[in-house]
Amino acid sequence: MNKEIKKDFPILDQEIHGHRFTYLDSAATTQKPIAVLEAVNDYYKNYNANPHRGAYYLSEKSTEIYENTRTVVKEFIGAKNEKEIIFVKNATEAFNLLAHSYGMNFIKEGDEIVISVAEHHSNLVPWQQVAKAKGALLKYLYLDEEGIITEEEIANKITNKTKIVSVTHVSNVLGTIQPIKKIIEKAHSVGAVAFIDIAQSVPHMKIDVSQLDADAAVFSGHKMLAPMGIGVLYGKEELLEKMPPFMCGGDMIEYVTEQDTTFAELPNKFEGGTQNVEGAAGLTSAIQYLNEIGMDNVEQIEDELVSETLKRLEELPFVTVYGTKDTKKKSGVISFNVEGIHPHDVASILDSYGVAIRVGRHCAYPLLNYMGVNAGTCRVSFYIYNTMEDVEALIEGLKNTRKWLG
Ligand code: PLP
Repeated sequence: MNKEIKKDFPILDQEIHGHRFTYLDSAATTQKPIAVLEAVNDYYKNYNANPHRGAYYLSEKSTEIYENTRTVVKEFIGAKNEKEIIFVKNATEAFNLLAHSYGMNFIKEGDEIVISVAEHHSNLVPWQQVAKAKGALLKYLYLDEEGIITEEEIANKITNKTKIVSVTHVSNVLGTIQPIKKIIEKAHSVGAVAFIDIAQSVPHMKIDVSQLDADAAVFSGHKMLAPMGIGVLYGKEELLEKMPPFMCGGDMIEYVTEQDTTFAELPNKFEGGTQNVEGAAGLTSAIQYLNEIGMDNVEQIEDELVSETLKRLEELPFVTVYGTKDTKKKSGVISFNVEGIHPHDVASILDSYGVAIRVGRHCAYPLLNYMGVNAGTCRVSFYIYNTMEDVEALIEGLKNTRKWLG
């Protein structure tokens, strides 16, 4: 199936440094299928106009494309209505919106904010800023040897002082799936709000935010086949109603006088300025593409690739894999190191064989410190267009790396 899927991704059909291109960095950003490229093209060729503003045909079409995406996203993640879907630039902007609009207004001195040590900086630095500004305490949930938050951590760290819990569903470093349902339940039992980072899960598995009962959830379109520059903040309507606007300007107002403003209703209250309609067109197409494949199939394709890669890496005694090797507990991300070789050198040699992987600290410095690997790790991450040939290219590349530098 994935061989057929790969044909929809023209960028993958090229040679890099004289070798077949092997793209293993989808956790950073995914490649885009022709359907998404055409949706963006079609928007500019036929419909481009500023949405929400003009009383003419193209502006109405542009508004229709943009608002239709809201409905498509709502259905894809199981939100209750369109008011709960706020378009942002990316996951980072969504967390900044939550931190500034909710954190800065509802957190008081002595309150506690709980995140995990596995957070991407986008779900960490904004909360540090809130904690510092408000005199609150930022507390961390730590991981077991498999890279998973334990029940004891959840029980002990989330207390009556906790006002916000904000955790990632899937770690962008280890690929481990965290027990977010339990974390959300515990947060609610102490009266805290629960925010989840689904940037690394919503592209790879079926997510239902209403069923999870998250108060807010955050993701980026570019990690799920859509263009860069469009992301989503899902928020329960009652939470978003309580929160003041984050960005002020055009489109988010109801009425403005010289000294005062009343704000637009949800979702517009949080969407100041001209929005990314081409991104919305691409996101609709991306979600339709994923729906056609089916999220169960997406999971199965990645499971097979991850199982095979873990098996093949185990045969290389010079490779250390971090976190669980149980594919039921992880998504399509594997972090590892090659004995005696700096991750950047591993990436350079692999690149010379046309294999693209990510190395470094993956915007998760506290996690890398916690893991005791300050120099960083090599990270491979899969998506629906990867094939067993990609796994083969990685393994051969690693053997060659060892031969040249080990
Ligand atoms: N959260 C997770 C788990 C991520 O992996 C990333 C990006 O790698 C982000 C948030 C931030 O995404 P963006 O850079 O698109 O804002």
